[in-house]
Amino acid sequence: MKHSNIVGGSTAERVINCPGSVKLVATMPPKESSTYADEGTLLHDCIADLLDMKVKSARDMIGRTYNDQVLTEELIEEKLLPALRLLNTIDPENVMDFEVEQKVGFGDFLPSVFGHVDLLGRLGDTAIVLDWKFGSGVMVEAEENYQGLFYACAARRTDLTKWVFKGATKVLIVIVQPPGIKIWETTPERLDQFEAQLASAVVEAKSDNALMAAGKWCKWCAAKPVCPVMTGEVDRVKAAQISALPAEQIGEYLKTADQLESWITDLRALAFQMLESGAAVPGYKLVPKRAIRSWVNEDAAKALLLAHLPESELVEVKMCSPAVVEKKLKKLKLALPEGSTAAVSSGVTLADVDDPRPQVMQLGSQLKSALTKLQG
Ligand code: SF4
Repeated sequence: MKHSNIVGGSTAERVINCPGSVKLVATMPPKESSTYADEGTLLHDCIADLLDMKVKSARDMIGRTYNDQVLTEELIEEKLLPALRLLNTIDPENVMDFEVEQKVGFGDFLPSVFGHVDLLGRLGDTAIVLDWKFGSGVMVEAEENYQGLFYACAARRTDLTKWVFKGATKVLIVIVQPPGIKIWETTPERLDQFEAQLASAVVEAKSDNALMAAGKWCKWCAAKPVCPVMTGEVDRVKAAQISALPAEQIGEYLKTADQLESWITDLRALAFQMLESGAAVPGYKLVPKRAIRSWVNEDAAKALLLAHLPESELVEVKMCSPAVVEKKLKKLKLALPEGSTAAVSSGVTLADVDDPRPQVMQLGSQLKSALTKLQG
């Protein structure tokens, strides 16, 4: 899905608070997608198809993929169906008029500023802007949610979606994040205010010395590693082009980052230990990790399931790893056949220059993807 390279829903809070980040982020390489992001995209696509009635039931989509992510029974049970049930909280009688997965933008008012909203709906005098959040790490608040405000303002200016706001006196910003839902009621006047803030940030972002400020919006900022505010070297970097940042300085920052990382790891471990022993750590709690279903009794389950599926479809036979086979052969005083194994690294990692491992050659992207296929 194409994103605005000025500001979109997910970057609105950062750009409004730190307009200077726009130019800096543009100098950074695009971020690679993560497993969590891919799973989120898969679930967004599936829920949109269900609501658009392109498929009859969630289970008809089992096996659908996005990158390496696959829609499974577990994902349907844990995320998709709970999200749909939560929609009933705002529309218990199923009477809402709605649109899903719409591209919304500001047209000539703010050219090239657009985003994709998950669901826009209208119930009586209330316009609804809803965002599905399928991640379970960071809980997202609805109140003063800049992403929701951005989509609402953009949708008001988009020909295909402006009907949702016509004559509405209330606006609900809704975050559905299974197992919970958060709802914030706001007004068209708050949208006007937000739009003015956004417009002035977009103008500021284009100026040479656009304002930069750090805050919670830095969390997802791709420019963090080279940000002059974060490194505390505003005066020095002000005088230099980002492209001219000395490699030596980056190396210095990495040393500090290593120290900070270990400090953060220890801090997390300490907080975990305190919570486990019953002490309170304000703002934090322990929660169960994602549950994965397992057989209560494998033999009993197999006996029951053999009535429906042949054994070959119930039981997987896997090749043992070279290390395990080598051990078994050793007992027979035999060695692994020559050429039967290959040691392939799963990628590259950053290391101190004194690390004993040899430096890797830089591979071209084609060769890298060919190797990835071989490893797969
Ligand atoms: S890290 Fe924070 S202060 Fe630095 S550019 Fe990004 S948003 Fe702005």
